[in-house]
Amino acid sequence: MLEIAGLNAWYGRSHAIQDVSLSVRRGELVCLIGRNGAGKTTTLKSVMGLVANCAGSIVFDGQEMTGQPVHARYAAGLAYVPEERRIVPGLTVRENLILGVVASPRRAEAEDMIEQATAMFPRLKERLSQIAATMSGGEQQMLAIARAMIAEPKMVLLDEPSEGIMPLLVDEMFEQFELMKQRGTTVLLVEQNVGLALAIADRAYVMESGAVVHADTAQAMLADQSVQERYLAV
Ligand code: ATP
Repeated sequence: MLEIAGLNAWYGRSHAIQDVSLSVRRGELVCLIGRNGAGKTTTLKSVMGLVANCAGSIVFDGQEMTGQPVHARYAAGLAYVPEERRIVPGLTVRENLILGVVASPRRAEAEDMIEQATAMFPRLKERLSQIAATMSGGEQQMLAIARAMIAEPKMVLLDEPSEGIMPLLVDEMFEQFELMKQRGTTVLLVEQNVGLALAIADRAYVMESGAVVHADTAQAMLADQSVQERYLAV
């Protein structure tokens, strides 16, 4: 579904991503882990077309994405939930969800799409008329995820969804990720909560200093204490 080969990205003269290659098969949930500043966010942004200076090959669902604008990548079936959420705080939950469908060819079916998306996130269903800013951080994160999922992307890129969220909601959110996978959505997940992420992932890549330094099945990585000590301990 996603094949990244020889990806490089720069911020000014800083070479943030160096020759990254990784792949995600259709229907897989793959996790990208590593310390702060390792280049995980930059990798996701490069896939979505949000890094101005990057080179290499990004093939998504058989199409070369390098050089394509963000909207073309969205139209090809990619969705991205950034770390900083970016919901519109002054709008209601329903209005935020509608923003997720305005660029979709199915926008005439917005009400049905909201119904489906909120069936997956019952916490949002009860709050459709609530102003988004008045929800907890975890609920806002769920809204950001639901807004990305509402147009039924083929693949979703999730950047640290559990960041700053209370444990009960994190568990709920991870249950939703498993459901997404069961429904056939392909997922690339950046996550600091390594134990939780590896528990639901099929495979994982570890990044360090802008490069992929380790790749394995999630099960093998969970069992290998030395990987966690080498690459993930603070
Ligand atoms: P974190 O877990 O802290 O988000 P990360 O693994 O996602 O880290 P990135 O955010 O991709 O890492 O950062 C990779 C490198 O690029 C870091 O050295 C960071 O300081 C740098 N960087 C990221 N964004 C920018 C930017 N907009 N301008 C300049 N440098 C940046």
